[in-house]
Amino acid sequence: AEEMLIRSEKMSVAGQLAAGVAHEIRNPLTSLKGFVQLLQAGTTKKDEYYKIMIDEIDKINNITSELLFISKPMTDEKNWEKILAMINDVVTLFQSQARLYNIDLVVKSSEDREIYCDKTQIKQVLINLLKNAVEEMLDGGTIVVEVDYNDSLCIVSIIDEGPGIPEHIIHKLKEPFFTTKKDGTGLGLMISNKIVENHQGKIDIVRNKKKGSTFRITIPIAPS
Ligand code: ADP
Ligand code: MG
Repeated sequence: AEEMLIRSEKMSVAGQLAAGVAHEIRNPLTSLKGFVQLLQAGTTKKDEYYKIMIDEIDKINNITSELLFISKPMTDEKNWEKILAMINDVVTLFQSQARLYNIDLVVKSSEDREIYCDKTQIKQVLINLLKNAVEEMLDGGTIVVEVDYNDSLCIVSIIDEGPGIPEHIIHKLKEPFFTTKKDGTGLGLMISNKIVENHQGKIDIVRNKKKGSTFRITIPIAPS
């Protein structure tokens, strides 16, 4: 049953991302059409246009690969994975939604290291946490994804400027089906927590001093 829950949350996350991703694909398609029309009309800038068109096709290709990736069933295959690559892939998915709500998505990291993890699962956690952050910031602002390391741990913080979490519900957030949203599932944090625990890590939830919340993932860099 747990697997079914994980699956259903996965689909709904993918479903909600789909609208944003559709926009992300439509822009390069519109641009491609424009350049085809320019080429049809005859031009001396053919080579320049071809180069732009190939870039636009690459964009579409990357986005569709990401969508296919997150719609795959949950695996349990741990490998050495670059942390920044996973973060950037997920941030890309949210970029058009962020733009729509005037949200700046900022990744802060001094270096990229590899951690021993299941890439699909960790990306799922990042998707769930970023989705929550975006949902709190529909009036705009900045979401920071910060990466730190100490000798044996990787720490990824997702810091939002939303209204924050009321003190009296903070201990309930990881419970299944706990939601304060009209169409929420209340499964995102429960699943994320399970995934991170499956990596011998933890998720800390912090009320920011000034504004908003921080969800801090701590994961061992190497298997124990
Ligand atoms: P859902 O997003 O479907 O409600 P989640 O498990 O992802 O389910 O989150 C549970 C609840 O935790 C949310 O309904 C919300 O009340 C709270 N929450 C999660 N992320 C944040 C955040 N960044 N800021 C404030 N509250 C949050
Ligand atoms: Mg959620």
